[in-house]
Amino acid sequence: MNLTAEQWNERYPIGTPVTAYPGINPAYAAEIGATDYPRLETRTRSVAWNLGPEPVVMVEGYAGGIHLEHIDLRVQAEETYDQKCERLRLAGAAELSRRYAERSGWVVCSPEWLAAGGDCRNAPRRSSADPRYSHEHPATEETAR
Ligand SMILES: [Zn+2]
Repeated sequence: MNLTAEQWNERYPIGTPVTAYPGINPAYAAEIGATDYPRLETRTRSVAWNLGPEPVVMVEGYAGGIHLEHIDLRVQAEETYDQKCERLRLAGAAELSRRYAERSGWVVCSPEWLAAGGDCRNAPRRSSADPRYSHEHPATEETAR
């Protein structure tokens, strides 16, 4: 990250998930064709400060300060629709959960679905996120809404 210590501290609190490169950073690695260099999946354990002219921050699992140009934010993988669906179901948000279920490729087993050609007997099923329906089936070309 090409930021000053002040800019870093405004944006990222202690505990921010980061990837740290204590040796060389990916930009320099690419420049010299290095593929095997140390990287740490970790989180910050200090605010950033200036060590001489260099903005550095400390991370868990490493003793000294690491230059901010050797730090990348570790982006959380986005929830899949299935995970969203399950989380919302557990939170009691059945209608929202059902929408995510549909978007992830499952549709509730409804009269409409059957009328559209859904094969309840042979299609895979799972229990529905929506209490108004007993279960869901994978959407097919014909029945996807
Ligand atoms: Zn069914």
